[in-house]
Amino acid sequence: MDYDIARARLINQLAGEIQDKRVLSAMSRVPRELFVPAALAGSAYENVPLPIGANQTISQPYIVALMTASLELNPQKKVLEIGTGSGYQTAVLAELAGQVVTTERIPELLQKAKTVLERLGYKNIEIHPAAETLGWQDGAPYDAIITTAGAPNIPDILLQQLAVEGRLVIPVGSRYEQVLHLIIKHPGGIEDIDLGGCRFVSLIGKDAWEG
Ligand code: SAH
Repeated sequence: MDYDIARARLINQLAGEIQDKRVLSAMSRVPRELFVPAALAGSAYENVPLPIGANQTISQPYIVALMTASLELNPQKKVLEIGTGSGYQTAVLAELAGQVVTTERIPELLQKAKTVLERLGYKNIEIHPAAETLGWQDGAPYDAIITTAGAPNIPDILLQQLAVEGRLVIPVGSRYEQVLHLIIKHPGGIEDIDLGGCRFVSLIGKDAWEG
């Protein structure tokens, strides 16, 4: 299988729905086949989520593109990701932002993601095991926060870690289906934009669902 051709075909397909050229170009530089189990590498460029072990999934490429575009990243920005999972979304963020901080609660996934991200040579990523509270307080405030697991509501603790005029993208809803929200933290209050329906694994913890 020629992954370069399959990747280019997927990016071409995403370009029909995603206008942000910088995001598409970032995704064309990240080898998704290295972030999925070897047995599924042949499906790495289908526009679908795939299992990554421990009952978790790597997000659908369209959703990765949509969420990343909504953050409006550039090399001056610092971004926090909650839910490293395979590390694929982390790599896409690292292509666009100056600094990426990411947290993961399942040690085996964290270790795998760390290995592949190091192998690819990313120097602007910090990976941490999930703390008791959501996010990573030490690095706050963040210009952008992306939560790649579904939450029952918008966690206040993440809004606190967001800079003024910062952007938070997060799936909110039930355990089985959610709406993707883009929250912008203006000085006078919160702007809440609906980006459409989605289906994510659950965000687990004190400020979200019970494990
Ligand atoms: N961005 C990932 C998506 C992985 S699925 C990718 O593209 O592969 C979501 C991940 O969120 C899972 O790995 C899950 O273990 C993790 N997660 C769930 N609750 C969490 C929490 N409170 N803190 C950190 N990670 C969490």
